[in-house]
Amino acid sequence: MKRSADNSKWPTVVVVGGGFAGLELVKGLENTPYNVLLLDKQNHHCFQPLLYQVATASLASDSIAHPFRRTVAPMANVSFRMAEVECVDPEKKELRTSIGIVQYDLLVLATGSTTNFFGNSDMQRQAMQLKSISQALDIRSDMLQEFEAALPLWNDNEKRRHLNFVIVGAGPTGVELAGALAEIKKTVVKREYTELDNALMRIILIDGLPRVLNSFTERSSKNAQRYLEELGVEVWLKTTVTGSDSQGITLSDGRTLETNTVIWAAGVRGVIIPGLEAALNTRANRFEVDGMNALKGDANIFVLGDCALMTSDAAYPNGHPQVATVAIQQAQLLVGNLKRKAKREKMTPFTYHHKGSMAVIGRGKAVVDIGAYSFGGFFAWLLWMFVHVMQLVGFRNRVMVLARWAWKFLSWKNTIRLIIRPYIR
Ligand SMILES: Cc1cc2nc3c(=O)[nH]c(=O)nc-3n(C[C@H](O)[C@H](O)[C@H](O)COP(=O)(O)OP(=O)(O)OC[C@H]3O[C@@H](n4cnc5c(N)ncnc54)[C@H](O)[C@@H]3O)c2cc1C
Repeated sequence: MKRSADNSKWPTVVVVGGGFAGLELVKGLENTPYNVLLLDKQNHHCFQPLLYQVATASLASDSIAHPFRRTVAPMANVSFRMAEVECVDPEKKELRTSIGIVQYDLLVLATGSTTNFFGNSDMQRQAMQLKSISQALDIRSDMLQEFEAALPLWNDNEKRRHLNFVIVGAGPTGVELAGALAEIKKTVVKREYTELDNALMRIILIDGLPRVLNSFTERSSKNAQRYLEELGVEVWLKTTVTGSDSQGITLSDGRTLETNTVIWAAGVRGVIIPGLEAALNTRANRFEVDGMNALKGDANIFVLGDCALMTSDAAYPNGHPQVATVAIQQAQLLVGNLKRKAKREKMTPFTYHHKGSMAVIGRGKAVVDIGAYSFGGFFAWLLWMFVHVMQLVGFRNRVMVLARWAWKFLSWKNTIRLIIRPYIR
């Protein structure tokens, strides 16, 4: 920890997880009377909303990541340790981590969420996920390897298994991924795999619900489905995956589909650190917190973002959606509350201000819901790009992403098409 004569008596705040919530909190606690220690098992913050662009060869992985040390180094009262937290002992106020025991006065858990397979262990073994940069790179390599594997085959039926791309879950991640894959079919496969009939490539988006983007307005859902279908994505709604093996999947209506690639984007569950089970809501796999994000039963522990379940916000009695804006707003409030705590003032409860939802579906098409307004098309796409660029951490990343998008828009090319894993199928 960074120590000086001034700060030796300040309380130590340990923040676990430098995602949207943790990083926002740490930035806000700079120059406050706290010693802050950020712990993360990665050495970088990852901007998850653009992971699908890494998975589909539009963006390089380093343009959506930012090293924690670059953020923390100039901060006099904030330190970073790369460490995985294994469990909490709230009695002793300490954490067991991969680098040893860490003690805290106040603990903030912001460990995010992981893919939820809803107990389907076959699917967990077979499917690919999109929650981290390494998973995004894995999807990218898999996609390119399937193209390479299909190309030399003589038999179209054999090719199909390589070229059927299945995405389960038609929320924003599934929709954006499906749109990007459909663009690849139209551009990359058509122009560069000229010995491969691009019509053989199918992108199938599956969801058990009756519409895509279920959390959006009905108008945006309809627009998104229309855009997807115009791009050639097959949207199979009111359908669930009941089985899977190395050959393909079985669906609730009895159909089977041969495929090598299933990407599971059908749900998330909180990442839980053992030791605080008394406050765990097992249904949601999130820690129950009060209106100030304090863990139920322990005023020295706060939980933020995807792994927190707050039911006191009147508009969200079942908890907030697991999105970046909730994580950021909770962190901003906790910064204010910790400053109030330092001055022995009363803390303020959290109210979520929903600023809107947006999803992009291929080149020049997006859907946006803001307040009473719901619109789609080119302007929505521009707005989506602007908002995402502005939210990226780091000026360099903003410039890199803008330059890459401009190049892609003008050249119609996804250029980052390196296979970076050995062929494993
Ligand atoms: C593909 C994808 C697209 C998305 N698109 C959008 C979008 O368009 N808009 C939107 O609002 N939201 C979107 N989200 C959701 C959004 O990214 C999450 O809601 C947000 O990241 C939650 O922030 P968080 O701080 O709670 O957790 P995270 O940002 O997930 O951060 C958790 C951090 O904790 C660290 N960690 C976890 N466990 C440990 C441990 N044991 N020890 C140490 N460190 C640990 C992780 O390494 C990570 O850095 C998307 C998510 C995904 C996966």
